[in-house]
Parts: sequence; structure tokens; C-alpha cells
Amino acid sequence: LAAKLDELSDKACETLDGQRIQLLGNIEFPAETKLCLQRGVDGIGLYRTEFLFLTGDSIPTEEQHYAAYREVAAAMQGRPVVMRTLDLGADKLPLFPAPDDERNPFLGLRSIRLALKHVDIFRLQLRAILRATNDGDVRVMFPLVSNLLELRRARMVLADAMEDLEEEGVPFNRDIKVGMMVEVPSAVVMMERFVDEVDFFSIGTNDLVQYTLAVDRSNKDVASLYTSADPAVIRLVKMAIDAADAGGKPISLCGQMSGAPLYTMLLLGLGLRSLSVTPAAAPEVKRVVRSTTMEHCQCVAERVLTLESARDVKTYLREELSKLL
Ligand code: PEP
Ligand code: MG
Repeated sequence: LAAKLDELSDKACETLDGQRIQLLGNIEFPAETKLCLQRGVDGIGLYRTEFLFLTGDSIPTEEQHYAAYREVAAAMQGRPVVMRTLDLGADKLPLFPAPDDERNPFLGLRSIRLALKHVDIFRLQLRAILRATNDGDVRVMFPLVSNLLELRRARMVLADAMEDLEEEGVPFNRDIKVGMMVEVPSAVVMMERFVDEVDFFSIGTNDLVQYTLAVDRSNKDVASLYTSADPAVIRLVKMAIDAADAGGKPISLCGQMSGAPLYTMLLLGLGLRSLSVTPAAAPEVKRVVRSTTMEHCQCVAERVLTLESARDVKTYLREELSKLL
């Protein structure tokens, strides 16, 4: 089976009726670009840059950021690379120790909120990302955006970083594409406004599930409630896709949901044309894409939208998947 899946890396990620699906890779370290290329991905849909903070015990310098970003950009040889800005805090590297009285870290000072609080560190990272636009098709994406002002503030820091680089005569691509993650229900609700202010979206179901269902993604005691198959999550994913389509902006999905073959037909049927997956999952997902038609995916999505529980959704999707493979 492994050999069979390997064979797939050269084949197009395309449905039986010819719909091309963009298959991107999620990475945490520059070295993972190699596996992505072996698996035949079309680019990097999510580079979790906060993992740079794992390697040292101090805050990375601009040069350290840049060295990593240049490596990723160059390795991908002109394919798109979406660099997500720091997503620290809560489950990821509480580098800036949370206040002792922070009782709900997932609802606290994390991710883009933390970046906007430590603007110096944020600006330094943005400078490095901008510099890496000289080395490949680099794009920037903000995590956990929960309202419009937050996005505007992040964009302002980006504009500042651009201005500084310009003054210093450092070259970069001024037209860098700017995107945001859709991983808080408020962002889904406000999509019709966000479409005017970013170039692209990526749905982060890992967080969207926990914020929609009020289930801590890292708490074992409630793990059975934590599932992308919940009808509420599926409806939010659909709303986000429909709003992005209406606004003419591309949207992808980079949560673990997109790497699970169980959901592939559903996600295509809901309208996604781009998936960003952990590289190990790319062949399996591609195999499903290559074994189905858009018409069938749309039927699957329609049917799923009539179901009332995560259990029913999973049972149905399992049946459909087993018929396929
Ligand atoms: C997500 O929340 O779905 C996501 C892709 O980001 P992370 O898992 O890094 O929070
Ligand atoms: Mg997330």
C-alpha cells in the first residue's frame, strides 16, 4: 500500500470528472519541505512558524527567522508558501508565561492577541517574512483573528514593517498576499466583511471545533465531544466557504479535518478547491480525490447537511468512503 501511495505523488490531484484540487502541505520545520515535495504537494498552505521558538531558549533574531523562511521559500521552488505569523500561547509554547490568574488560556492572551501585545517581536517576524518574498512565492497569514479591528491592527504592523524596510533600502514584494485563518466562530459570522480586507482565507478547524463546541482541544475528559463531524462545525465550514466564494476570495482548510480522508468528499462537496494537509496524509487524500466526482461529492455534502449528530455524520461518511476504495 505504501508503494502504491508513493506512486500517487506524480499524479494530478484531480477528480474523475476533471476538477483540479489544490493540495498543500502543513509544516512546522523547514526540513519538512522535503517530504512535502516527495508527496507532490502544490505548495505550503500552513507553515507554523512558532516552532522556531522551540529550538532556542531565547527569542529568535530577525536573521534566525529569515534563515528559516528563506530555506522554506527556496525549497518550494516558486510554489506558494503561506507563512502563518506567531501562534504562541495556550497549547503552543507558553514562552511568555501567562499571568497566574489566566484561568482560560484558550480564551486568553494567545496567538494574534499575544503578537499585538508584543509588537516588537511581531514586527521583527514580519520583516523576516517580507524579506523572504525575494526567495519564493511567500504569503503571510494571521492566526486566530476574531474581529475586524484586530485584523486591521495586524495589517498596520505589517505596513510599518514594510515602511522600515523601504527606508532601509531592503527589497521585498510590496504586493505580498495577506490572509487570515478562520478559526473563531466570530470570524465566520463576519466573513462578508473580512472578504474585503484580505486576499485569502484558511479555515482552522482544530480551533474552530473547540470554540464552536466549547470543548478544550487538549482536555482528554471531553475528547469525545471534540470532533469536526459535528453538524454545527460543518455548517460553519460551509458558511465560511460560501462567504469567501461570494466575495471572490480563495479559501482553503488547514485543520486536521482536511488530512482525514473521511472528510475529503464532504469538503469538496461543500465547495473547497484547496486543502492543506500534513504531508504524510497527502497521498491518502489525493487517492480519494482521484476516485470520486464532484457530482458525487455534492450529493455527499447535501446528505451530510441533513444529519443531526456527529455520530451519524461519521457513520455515513465511513460508508461512503468504504464504497469508494
Ligand atoms: C487550526 O486551528 O485548525 C490550525 C490549523 O492551527 P493550529 O492547529 O496550529 O492551531
Ligand atoms: Mg489554530
